[in-house]
Amino acid sequence: MNEQHFSNRAGSTSAGSTIRRFAESPYGIKELEATHSSGVYNKRDLIIERGNGARVWDQAGREYIDCVAGIGVANVGHCHPAISAAVARQAETLLSCPELFYNERRARLLHQLASVMPAGLDRLFLCNSGSEAVEAALKFARLATGRSDVVAAMRGYHGRTLGALSATYKRQYRQPFAPLVPGFSHVPFNDIVAMEAAVGPDTAAVLVEIVQGEGGVRVGAPGYFQALRRLCDERGVLLIVDEVQTGFCRTGSWFACQQMGVTPDLLCLGKAIAGGVPMGAVAIGPGVGALSPGVHGSTFGGNPLACAAALAALEIYESENLALRAAELGAHLLQRLQEIDSPQVREVRGLGLMVGLELRTRAGPIIQDLMSRGVLALTAGATVLRLLPPLTITRDELDFVIVAIEEALHEQTI
Ligand code: PMP
Repeated sequence: MNEQHFSNRAGSTSAGSTIRRFAESPYGIKELEATHSSGVYNKRDLIIERGNGARVWDQAGREYIDCVAGIGVANVGHCHPAISAAVARQAETLLSCPELFYNERRARLLHQLASVMPAGLDRLFLCNSGSEAVEAALKFARLATGRSDVVAAMRGYHGRTLGALSATYKRQYRQPFAPLVPGFSHVPFNDIVAMEAAVGPDTAAVLVEIVQGEGGVRVGAPGYFQALRRLCDERGVLLIVDEVQTGFCRTGSWFACQQMGVTPDLLCLGKAIAGGVPMGAVAIGPGVGALSPGVHGSTFGGNPLACAAALAALEIYESENLALRAAELGAHLLQRLQEIDSPQVREVRGLGLMVGLELRTRAGPIIQDLMSRGVLALTAGATVLRLLPPLTITRDELDFVIVAIEEALHEQTI
């Protein structure tokens, strides 16, 4: 794209302003993003303009049932009126307030968040994303144990910052950035014998998801997590559970670890925590000991806007019974998808409203086909179609998705 087209020699626009206005550009949204965004994302050919509940609309006014939900962010639905009102109110009161100071929104949030956490996890480090939550947990585990190493699971995903990336399994994500943080190893998920062999005297922590999301929607067994807990206790190792994707009612309970009968020492949270506003958190258990001032920090961590949104989101999770809703609708979705008679389907699995269809072929073409039928869905690896709808989705909307998947699979087989 030729920038000169709308800039004069002094570097300012024809209107005399330094900022190049969108209206002055001869280019559309897609060209501008293609030119000026980093290039690290593979984008779909769709401009999303607005959302409401489980639906989003494109520029032409076309409606989609959104089973992407911001990649598991919009659990309470898009533009929930209570979230919008809380954000608007807070925007008129105070936006920035680092944890150099106290703030009532933050105090309320910490109090209420702690009350929904698994027992004992009553301290929280607030940050701005899932990766940051994982980074913080890794640092806290090193501090608390005085050890350096971490054992994670094959197919695990924990983010792209260097520490989190060191724990992420996928080779394509890691290899270009080597050397990563030393001391990370990966063992098969859901295999306690492999974990027992990998945990050594230098192991600070074991880091796992309860349901591997990006790794293909794979649900670990309760017995595995309980054995992991015993192993960590025996060897003085901390158990870090990453619920960035499974947290906040997604799987049918506040947190998926509660269904597995296990309480971690550190619980990583993000995505849906603040009803769509960026936020991450680590809940910290008694096994971590005291953390002293200065060992970690974040400018935006615990900002009043995110705290106000998260407070509103917590109320919605409870008042709209979203955990129960996810459990019931998830069971319906899983059953209906398992009944689909298609040679393309290898397995259907999931927990609550986190469901994956493992195909015998690549999932990309089905995702594309679904888009033309008014359904947005995700992949989880090359061959898994992943659904993460808002937990507020209606049964009719969900049935529309199921029929669209049936038809898309049928179409692809012909
Ligand atoms: N952990 C898990 C389990 C995730 O699913 C993700 C995001 N997909 C992350 C960590 C990283 O979160 P973020 O992209 O917000 O940094």
